[in-house]
Amino acid sequence: MQISLTNSAFKTPQIFPFCQPFISQKPSTHQLSLQQNLHVNALKGSSSYLSDISKAIDHEEQYLQAQQKVNRKGVNLEGITIEGVSVGGQETCIIVPQFKCAFDIGRCPKRAIQQDFVFITNAHLDHIGGLPLYVASRGLYNLKPPTVFVPSWIKEDVEQLIDIYRKLGQVELNVELVALDAGETYEMQNNLVVRPFRTQHVIPSQGYVIYSIRKKLKKEYTHLNENQVEKLKESGEEITDNILSPEVAFTGDTTSDFYHDPLNADALKAKVLITEATFLDDSSSIDHARQYGHTHIFEIMEKGNRISNKAVLLTHFSSRYNIEDIRQAASKLQSKLSAKVVPLTEGFKSKHS
Ligand SMILES: [Zn+2]
Repeated sequence: MQISLTNSAFKTPQIFPFCQPFISQKPSTHQLSLQQNLHVNALKGSSSYLSDISKAIDHEEQYLQAQQKVNRKGVNLEGITIEGVSVGGQETCIIVPQFKCAFDIGRCPKRAIQQDFVFITNAHLDHIGGLPLYVASRGLYNLKPPTVFVPSWIKEDVEQLIDIYRKLGQVELNVELVALDAGETYEMQNNLVVRPFRTQHVIPSQGYVIYSIRKKLKKEYTHLNENQVEKLKESGEEITDNILSPEVAFTGDTTSDFYHDPLNADALKAKVLITEATFLDDSSSIDHARQYGHTHIFEIMEKGNRISNKAVLLTHFSSRYNIEDIRQAASKLQSKLSAKVVPLTEGFKSKHS
C-alpha cells in the first residue's frame, strides 16, 4: 500500500544530502581557481575531465530522479496511479493520468490541464468551478479540445456558462460537452468506456465507472486446443466476446444510500472505488452527514460487506480535519474492510505543521 506523501516529505531529499552543489550559486574565488585548475588539468588529460563531467551528470540525474520521487503526489492502487485534491466544500479534482481523465474540476489544478476527459458529478462549485479555466487552459497550451461529461440535466446551463465566458473574455473556448446519464455508455478510447451511475446528494448527482474492454474466448470455443483456436481465427471467425471490466469508480458527493442501489453493483466491484467520507468522528452525526448529502465514515464501516473493490480511496474530508485525524479514521475503517483503504490527504495540514 502506498500512501500519499505529505508536504512534510517535500523537503530536501535525505538520500541525496549532496544536492547542494547543483544549486546555482556564485562561486567563491577559491572555487574559481579550483575550477580553472580543473579546466587546465582537463586540457592535459581530457579523459579524466570527461569522466568527472559524466559522474557529475550521473549524480545530477540521480538527484533529479530522487527529487521527482519525493515530490510525486498521489497514490498507486492496483496498478492505477491516482492523484489530485479533494477537500469538502473547497475543491475536488481527482486525476487518473493513465485514463487521461479527471473526475470533477473544482479549481483546475495544473495537472488537470493535460487530461483529455473530465467527468462532472454535480454542479456545486467545489466540483465544477474550475471548468471554464480548464477549457481555456487547454486552448492556451494548444491541446485538443477536451471532452467534458455532464449529467444531461445541467448540460444546457453549462453550455450557457461557457458562452458567457466566451463573451466576457472575447475568446474561443473549444470543448465537446457530452450529456451522459446513468445506464448510458460512451466509448472514450478503443479500450475504455465510461458509464455513469446514480448517487444521492442534495442536488442531482451521479458517479462514473470506467471500464476496460477485454477480449475473452467465446464459451463455445473454450474446449478447443491452441492450434484449433488459431485455425478458427485465421478463417476469419469471430472467436472472442468483449468483456467490460470495471477499473475505477468515482462517486463524487453522495449519501451512503449509494451502497444500497442494485444498479451500482459495478461501482462496488471496480478494482478501485474512489468515494467520499466527509465526516470522520463523533463531532458530526450520521444524521448530519445525511442531511447535507454526504457520507459519514461510520456508515462505510457498517457497509463493509457490500464493498467488493480491491482498494478504496477515501476523499472529500471536511477541512476541519488534519492529516493525523484522517489517517487515524482510515486505519479504523481498514480494520473493518478487506479492501485496501487509503485516504487522499493532499490539501490538508498536519497538526505538526
Ligand atoms: Zn463537495
